Amino acid sequence: MNSLQHPVMVGLLALSTLTAAAQTARPAARNEGKMPPAKVNSLPGPAPTPINRTVIVLDPAHGGIDSGSQISDTTVEKDVTLALAFRLRSMLTVRGFTVVMTRDADSPSEVDAEGTALTLDDRAGIANHAHAAACLLLHATGSGNGVHLYRSELDATAGEPAVVPWLTAQAAWVPQSKLLEKQFADALARAGIALVASNASVRPMDSLECPALVVELAPEGDDADSVNDTDYQQHVALSIAGALLFWQNQVQAPVRLSTVAAGKAVQASSTGAQP
Ligand SMILES: [Zn+2]
Repeated sequence: MNSLQHPVMVGLLALSTLTAAAQTARPAARNEGKMPPAKVNSLPGPAPTPINRTVIVLDPAHGGIDSGSQISDTTVEKDVTLALAFRLRSMLTVRGFTVVMTRDADSPSEVDAEGTALTLDDRAGIANHAHAAACLLLHATGSGNGVHLYRSELDATAGEPAVVPWLTAQAAWVPQSKLLEKQFADALARAGIALVASNASVRPMDSLECPALVVELAPEGDDADSVNDTDYQQHVALSIAGALLFWQNQVQAPVRLSTVAAGKAVQASSTGAQP
C-alpha cells in the first residue's frame, strides 16, 4: 500500500494542509493580485462528524410485546428501563441537556402500517440522527448488584470512514465510549454504587455513531424488586447525570477519513503542475 493512501497518512496530510493554509493566510492577503494561493491549500480536510454536546440519547430497551427479562413475579424489564429513562430525562433536562428518547411509552414509539414494533435498527437510526454527546442503552436485570456497564466488543479504528458501515459504525467511537465508561465508573464509585464494567455487543450498539454504553440496572441488594425502588433509581440516575455534565466538555468526534477525496486531491495537484 502506498503510504499516501494509508488512512493515518491521509489524516496527517489533511492536518498539514490546514496548518499550511492558516500560516499562509496573512501573507496571501498582503500579496493580493500577485500570486494565487497554491491549489492544495484550498482543499479542506474532511469535517468531523458534528456533536451536539447538550444532546443525550436514551434508549429504554424493550417495550410493547417485547417485555425483556422477567425480573420478579411482578416486574418486567421493559417497565424498569422506561422508568429509569424518565428519571434520567428530567434530571438531564434540569441540567440543560436535550434528551432524545427512542420510546416514551410502553408501546413502541413508531409503528408501521403492519403494526410492527420499533426495530433495533430504528432505534440506532433515531440515535445517530441526534449526533449526541452520549447514547445510553438502558437495560435492567434481577441478578448481580448495582450497575453493569457494557461497551462494544469492536476493535477501535483510527478514524471514521467516509462511508460508515452500518454494522460496525461504533468502531470509530470505541475510544470515546471507553472514556465515557471511565467517567461513569468514577462517578458510580464516588456514589458507592456497585459496578461491573465489561464488553458485549448488545444490539444495536455496534451501529451507533456516538459514545455509547449499555447501562444495566441491577438490584441494590438481595431483593430483585429493588430495581423499582424510587430512591435507588434516583441515586443511580443522579450519579450518571453528574458524570454527563463533565462529559459534555470532553467528548470529541473521531477524525473523519476520506481516502477518496484525498486520492482526488493528489491527482488534482499533480495534474495542475503540468502546463
Ligand atoms: Zn434487556
